[in-house]
Amino acid sequence: MAMIKLDQVSKYYRSEETVSVGMKNISLDFELGEFVAVTGESGSGKSTLLNVISGLDGYEDGELYLFGEETSHYTIADWERYRGTYIGFVFQNYNIIDSYTVYQNVMLALEIQGYDPKERKKRALELIDKVGLTSHKNHKASKLSGGQKQRAVIARALAKDCPVIVADEPTGNLDSSSAEQVMRLLYTIAKDKLVIVVTHDYDQVKQYATRKIKMHDGEVVEDRKIKDYDLAHLNEVPKPKRMGLLTLFRFALRNLLSTPKKLIFLMIMQIIVIAVFTIVYTNQISGIREAGLEQSSTFPSVPETRVLIEKRDGSEFTAAEIESFRSMRVVNEVYEEAMNFYNETNLFVSKSGGDYYGRGNIRATDSANMLNQSDIEGELPTAMNEIVISSYLDFNVGDTVTLNAGIAYEWYGDDGNDTSIGTFTVTGIDKLDREILYFSEAYLMQPTSDEAIINYGLLAQIEQRLNYELSFEFGGDRMWTYRDDFSNFTEDIYIDGEGNRTVLTGQTLTFMTYDINYNEFSYEMNNLTISVPEDMYGARMHPDTHQEIKDYFLDLWESQYTVSPKNYLSLSVDGYYAGNRVINSVDADLYKVYYPANISGAMREIQVFFLSFLAAILLTLFGLFLYSIVHAVTKNVMNARKKDFAIFRSIGANKTTLAQLVVLEQVIMSTVGFIITMIIINIISANITLIAADIQYMELRDYLILLAAFMFFGAWLGLRFNKKVFKQSVIETLTQSRGE
Ligand code: ADP
Ligand code: MG
Repeated sequence: MAMIKLDQVSKYYRSEETVSVGMKNISLDFELGEFVAVTGESGSGKSTLLNVISGLDGYEDGELYLFGEETSHYTIADWERYRGTYIGFVFQNYNIIDSYTVYQNVMLALEIQGYDPKERKKRALELIDKVGLTSHKNHKASKLSGGQKQRAVIARALAKDCPVIVADEPTGNLDSSSAEQVMRLLYTIAKDKLVIVVTHDYDQVKQYATRKIKMHDGEVVEDRKIKDYDLAHLNEVPKPKRMGLLTLFRFALRNLLSTPKKLIFLMIMQIIVIAVFTIVYTNQISGIREAGLEQSSTFPSVPETRVLIEKRDGSEFTAAEIESFRSMRVVNEVYEEAMNFYNETNLFVSKSGGDYYGRGNIRATDSANMLNQSDIEGELPTAMNEIVISSYLDFNVGDTVTLNAGIAYEWYGDDGNDTSIGTFTVTGIDKLDREILYFSEAYLMQPTSDEAIINYGLLAQIEQRLNYELSFEFGGDRMWTYRDDFSNFTEDIYIDGEGNRTVLTGQTLTFMTYDINYNEFSYEMNNLTISVPEDMYGARMHPDTHQEIKDYFLDLWESQYTVSPKNYLSLSVDGYYAGNRVINSVDADLYKVYYPANISGAMREIQVFFLSFLAAILLTLFGLFLYSIVHAVTKNVMNARKKDFAIFRSIGANKTTLAQLVVLEQVIMSTVGFIITMIIINIISANITLIAADIQYMELRDYLILLAAFMFFGAWLGLRFNKKVFKQSVIETLTQSRGE
């Protein structure tokens, strides 16, 4: 039985207008062991015959039998399997991977064939030795002479132990002595194979050929046996195995590393794209994560840039604990003598000896982190008793000011609970008009007493509650009441409203209020006198009655506003999001966190949902935009690989393997590019506050989302390329790249 048999096979090339004959009515048999020389002038159909036999190109009429089997029903996959298992190719233009070494070129064929890793190396070296290239095995293919390249290709063709070798003008570009070497090499390997060599110079092969076929105008005009040959038997051909993941990984890595310039170019572009996209991404999430976060009504004037931490067991913070807070990403600085900030709330500024100037929401904060020399007129504060003040308060450099903490009823003229913090000299005026007082580091760092002290800021908050957030049940309704220092009613409670008024005596009421942590408390009073109108609005309290309630709660809550400074840390953060991150990551069993920012309910969720939705659309569009740029830029780089891919295919790599390869290459590129970019961004962000402000919003999930997105886009790009490669036949690609 003939190994390959053509029965009346014809092949036509159709272009838009013309149909040209590649070959017509060819009937030929080929046996294992033959060394067939195909000759004929240019355009006579030699290549067409070879391509049809080897399954690189289809045919129209007639039937091609392979090992007795019809092939008209063969699918693309069948042809790939046939080529992969039985055919070794040698072309005129020595199709070799230029960026690989000789060894890597031969090795590749063995890997694609799924050879055992241990056998692989030995066999590759044997083959290289057989074609006489041992001394050149680690040379890059691009550095070899034409004859050496062709010998390397033959070694590669032999790698897979295939029974058929087809060679299309293998010596076409070689000088006569190299040509002679290559032909002799083909002859020596032909012993147990079928070798079909196309040449227009029959003299080169005549001493080796066992048979001569001459073609003319697509037809066989001569088919002559030259000499006897030993008919060989078809050995068990090893079925190509799937490439193992590890081999595939090495294959991908080798492709990337074998073209360093290209790799650097792609990597730089990748890094730019990842960096640009990441910055846009962090910018989006920063908006989303701040959305709907509001100042808590509990601490209306505590800056959102401070988080206060207290140890529940009352002990001092250890150095390790302090360090662990300092190492939190969202924490800028940790202040150990935290209670120097106790007056962060409700500060009042007055010219010494003069009237109140400031409002209740002036904030005290550290100068070093928040103030630049360029922001102020004058000097930064350095000594203990120096401050910088907002320009809107109408002070001048050199003025002396007094600070008080606590609740001041400016318009009621009651300064009852204010506590003087001290007298300061204004060294500078904040031109940015922020309602903040800037103290010197010296002041902020002054050692605090070990003894428990009253936190006037917290005390002020509690008093605020007691003054204004007090209610009681009356006649089935909840009435809100407040302390009235200015009217001169004599009842305990005076209910505002219209109509006839009755005075009730001997009443019992339960007053409700909240502590600073919004826990509800109540206090019952007996024997109260209440003035009630027919139509009620709201209630006021006599100051003496109110004072009793206030004294009761201040006593009850003493531990809430009395603090031991040594048990507190003050963390400086950038804002609400960072503050909430601290709350979420601190061990609630060990520490109590005081933070003014809270998360409001439904509105925040709606806002976050809406913003996320918009961000997803925007990021997708932006991603596609970047993708199209990358695609345009990498197109040429990728197209330069088409020839390599055609060669991979010609030595048996199928579409799936190559798809896996491109995906893996892209995954490696994306991952490495991503890691490099993140390192760069994190280093840069230490110096560029604009990036740092956004990068702090990055959580683990964001890194994973971004990495997955880049892998996805990379893989998409790669698969698109692979699909394009497989739209063409191997021959089309090679012909095309030859022309380039
Ligand atoms: P040879 O290899 O002997 O030089 P070919 O097999 O390449 O000849 O070509 C045989 C005939 O088929 C020639 O007339 C050639 O012009 C034509 N032909 C070959 N390839 C194509 C093609 N891709 N498209 C159109 N015509 C082709
Ligand atoms: Mg040809």
